[in-house]
Amino acid sequence: MSDARLTPDVELNGISPDEAFAVLGNKTRLDIIRVLWHADAAHKYDEVSDVAETLSFTDLRREADIDDNGRFNYHLSRLVPHFVRQTDDGYRLSGAGKQIARTVIAISGTDDLDFSADLEQPCPLCDAPMTVSYEDQWLRVRCTECAGQFGEETPYGSVFLSNYPAAALTDRTADEALTIGFYRCMLDNAYFMKGICRECGGSISASVSVCSDHESHAGDSCARCGTRSPVWATQRCETCGFAKRLPVEVFALGLTPAISFLNEQGIDVLAPSMDEIVDLLDNGVETAVSEDPFRVTITIRGDARALEVSLDDEMDLVGLNRDASE
Ligand SMILES: [Zn+2]
Ligand SMILES: [Zn+2]
Ligand SMILES: [Zn+2]
Repeated sequence: MSDARLTPDVELNGISPDEAFAVLGNKTRLDIIRVLWHADAAHKYDEVSDVAETLSFTDLRREADIDDNGRFNYHLSRLVPHFVRQTDDGYRLSGAGKQIARTVIAISGTDDLDFSADLEQPCPLCDAPMTVSYEDQWLRVRCTECAGQFGEETPYGSVFLSNYPAAALTDRTADEALTIGFYRCMLDNAYFMKGICRECGGSISASVSVCSDHESHAGDSCARCGTRSPVWATQRCETCGFAKRLPVEVFALGLTPAISFLNEQGIDVLAPSMDEIVDLLDNGVETAVSEDPFRVTITIRGDARALEVSLDDEMDLVGLNRDASE
């Protein structure tokens, strides 16, 4: 089926994760990467330039502020070829070197950042005020009154929580940060449902758990599973370990047919408001589980018709009805 997952063959070309940690765990080498990044030393046609910028050995050593030729040469040689490329004209970053530089930039500069704030938008579940906090590079949004969206799967009151790059908090209000965080999460889900890790491009493996005696009334958590949702999925990257655990319906919204169906209903799933998604999940989506073979069938109601998607126990799309009756 055209919506089936891609399973790309990912190889960690020539260097193991342990070797990469060992190579990068050194200030001089990170300085070399920093200097090359500041000098825009990168491959021709990468990004925006059609000119390959390079730095000579001497310039690179001077900019990195290292006097000892032998020591500098040793550290530089450890970075070549995986993170730094040596050409006839000089040295430049490889794609991996640039990714390291970008990651360092994305996570920099917030040791003393206090991002605790009240949000302007109210809780989508109960309309009480919400607060946001930022700690350990995580954005955490909590309701000040209700139990939140995820029951016992998350700290009490959690409405939204996600890894969030520190650099993206600069000059943003709490409400803007939540909008961006939500957007990034919905994109993560679209990647997960294609079986691809958004962090590293690796393959995703998934599992599904079902609360067999689920009882949840008026948005309260079920006594048995402690959440409002009977079916949860865990999706994890086999290469880098990036993982999420969410109610299956939230993941299913990232399927291409769901994105397209909801777009026709006026909901942009990739950039929705939190109210829209919570309302949709509470009032417009139904989930049924059947055995032999195991199937989770999610029905998303629209104006005139409904979309029905069936997932197997590995979250692969195995059934699709774009014209289900209401
Ligand atoms: Zn609330
Ligand atoms: Zn339950
Ligand atoms: Zn990954």
